[in-house]
Amino acid sequence: MKLKTFAPADVAGKKTLLRVDFNVPFRDGKVQDDLRIRAHAPTIERLLGAGAHVALVSHFGRPDGHVVPEMSLGQLVGDVERVYGKKVHFVDDCVGDKVTDAMNSLPQGDLLLLENSRFHPEEQKNDPDFAKLMARPFEVFVMDAFSAAHRADVTTNGIMSVLPSFAGNLLVKEGEMLGIVCEKPHIPYVLIFGGAKVSDKIGVVKFLSDLANTVLIGGGMAYTFLKTDRRAIGKSLREEDRYVFARDIMDSARTAGAKVYLPLDSVVADGPNATTSSVSDDVPDDKMGLDIGPKTIELFTKSILSAKSILWNGPMGVFENPMFAEGTKALCEAVAKATSWGAISVIGGGDTASAVRKFGFADKVSWISTGGGATLEYCSGKPMPGMDPLRID
Ligand code: ADP
Ligand code: MG
Repeated sequence: MKLKTFAPADVAGKKTLLRVDFNVPFRDGKVQDDLRIRAHAPTIERLLGAGAHVALVSHFGRPDGHVVPEMSLGQLVGDVERVYGKKVHFVDDCVGDKVTDAMNSLPQGDLLLLENSRFHPEEQKNDPDFAKLMARPFEVFVMDAFSAAHRADVTTNGIMSVLPSFAGNLLVKEGEMLGIVCEKPHIPYVLIFGGAKVSDKIGVVKFLSDLANTVLIGGGMAYTFLKTDRRAIGKSLREEDRYVFARDIMDSARTAGAKVYLPLDSVVADGPNATTSSVSDDVPDDKMGLDIGPKTIELFTKSILSAKSILWNGPMGVFENPMFAEGTKALCEAVAKATSWGAISVIGGGDTASAVRKFGFADKVSWISTGGGATLEYCSGKPMPGMDPLRID
């Protein structure tokens, strides 16, 4: 998906409202992980470099339309200053005269952080009057919050009907990379699914499987598929109400000419916290399959190395326990190698992203998507209210 972005002349000297996602993990008055803040740095650099006057708006937690002091974005001022190396001013609302006054006195080069947009109930109702109110102090809107782009809120959608609007760097990059793997994959296209549950990913599996040349299914979700292939799965994760879906997916992907590979063997143990394990083709009655085994690693690696585009969603095992991390690690290596040979590799899914970072492969893949829910929605072919109005192809 190609998005309309801004040229310096579109924003130079303009009062610009930038939608970011500062919904960071926050505990004991501290930001636990500033990845989401850092993700907007390129857009901010480019806006300030072009001479824009920039205010930042975001949601933070779920205050449900009430003012909740524990969810005030004022608490993030220090972290935002540290990450961007800019002076940050804060105003304790996101609409009204306070914002207009603060914008009028904002020195170019500094940033203005507005209060949590979800303190107003109109935000999540996508209220058109509230969109006009919010737009009043501004001349331009830039959307950069990919992880909120599956929502139709005022700050992700409604305001685009009121102000000239553009996509920021992060949104453009997400559209470009997810566009490749969801719309125009380079062939051969290898899809890797894993993680805990089939039901979390049904939309994505359904939407993308027909596009792929090869579908690799590992992780906990594989056992629901293996069971429909009449394999013994012991006490492994399963979703009995998804057997029919699993059957249908395998049939329809195969009819469309795709190869669907399930694990040939598993690392089995008593449970995710076990301290001893073994490898077997079928899972014994009293054990769980907690990682893919060496034969599966070999099979999956071979497919991955032949790929020109790859989407990976869901780890191959309980990688949080080193005993069940080998499958996920081996696939990180394979995906990194394919990428170094010219494949486009996209990582979707929060836990898959953590695994790729944990094992040191973050800069060896093409792109790690910053959206959790948003990535799943995009990859299910659903509307993206925060992107669709900016689409130019
Ligand atoms: P993502 O966030 O990347 O979309 P999921 O949330 O679907 O991934 O799944 C991640 C979780 O799946 C991890 O916490 C991992 O421990 C778990 N998991 C992976 N394989 C198995 C398995 N065989 N049995 C049980 N849990 C598994
Ligand atoms: Mg997850």
